[in-house]
Amino acid sequence: MTQDSRLPFLPFALPEIGEEEIAEVVETLRSGWITTGPKAKRFEAAFAEYLGGAPGELHAIAVNSATAGLHLALEALGIGPGDEVITTTYTFTATAEVARYLGADVVLVDIDPATLNIDPRAVEAAITPRTKALLPVHYAGLAADMPALLDIARRHGLKVVEDAAHALPTTVQGQLVGTLGSDATVFSFYANKTMTTGEGGMLVTRDAALAERARVMRLHGMNRDAFDRFTAKVPSWYYEIVAPGFKYNLTDIAAALGLHQLRRVDGFQRRRAEIAARYNEALAALPLQTPPDAPAGDLHAWHLYAVRLTEAASVGRDAVIERLFEAGIGCSVHYIPLHLHPYWRDRYQLSPAQFPHSQRAYETIISLPLYTRMCDADVERVIDALRRILG
Ligand SMILES: *Cc1c(COP(=O)(O)O)cnc(C)c1O
Repeated sequence: MTQDSRLPFLPFALPEIGEEEIAEVVETLRSGWITTGPKAKRFEAAFAEYLGGAPGELHAIAVNSATAGLHLALEALGIGPGDEVITTTYTFTATAEVARYLGADVVLVDIDPATLNIDPRAVEAAITPRTKALLPVHYAGLAADMPALLDIARRHGLKVVEDAAHALPTTVQGQLVGTLGSDATVFSFYANKTMTTGEGGMLVTRDAALAERARVMRLHGMNRDAFDRFTAKVPSWYYEIVAPGFKYNLTDIAAALGLHQLRRVDGFQRRRAEIAARYNEALAALPLQTPPDAPAGDLHAWHLYAVRLTEAASVGRDAVIERLFEAGIGCSVHYIPLHLHPYWRDRYQLSPAQFPHSQRAYETIISLPLYTRMCDADVERVIDALRRILG
């Protein structure tokens, strides 16, 4: 039995919820308005302001998950049966499933092995007359090659929706993801993301028509939301249904968390980057490939810290995860690529040989704990355990 196993278990991820968040939630509960209302509106305004959008120019639409936001974005862009959406196999299924909700087909492509982000050359090779949109993911919080992807989209007349579930805050040439010029960008506030509302997301767009459609479809296809109706100067029970919409609104209870998490998100990023830098330094001597940093001057959100075992490692990936677990340390694998999941594999007759870089990454990768509530001793404990296992 190792000494570490007598320490409390170090989970793979933990949210950091402060007293301000708790007080705001309690205040919301006491206020009499707990669903979408004044706090969700304030959260949307604060989010657009955080990204640096001039009021009315950058629209932020709060939703109950990033999955909902991605669905709304593709729906508003008119994606439907007969259309193809190109995305990476190296992602969570939410990125791709939303295209299937709309009856469109998903075309999965391989990654750049250096960044684990979607490979623009693979995207270009996958374009057909049916291609309507590109759906890049900023893996781990490192920006995908957006200049190349936006250029491809421009040349082929395609829409671009960014899955920015890992990418708050991430920059490209100094510009925050969310302001890069794609049609829509969607952030996640799931419990383990870089800021959280428990469950939640934000759809961001400069396109006023897209924003209007997403707002209506977020709440049953209703042309006025409940807060508008019940708080208008002249109370009104009247509304119209203009489409068969969804139930994707964010509650004020969740928005109360978001208002305070957003204020802390830059500090959270600094702590995450500090932990990543310590891992980079300490793990360089082990048979591990450490993850790439953002280019100089740019921000990496560091949602994930994923290392890859090199050929020199004497222990396999699964055994390393098992031994870390025995040492009381939680890890994960991001991702089991979509082409290996029965639904995607069978639907599109996919095989690992079509995605050699994603397949290789999957077989060797381990996500280590990386979150703001880790103290320096927690970080050293992970490093020491890896040294014992791999040294
Ligand atoms: C977390 C995540 C999502 C889904 O976010 P939800 O808010 O849970 O819907 C989508 N894509 C990626 C890459 C994610 O990591």
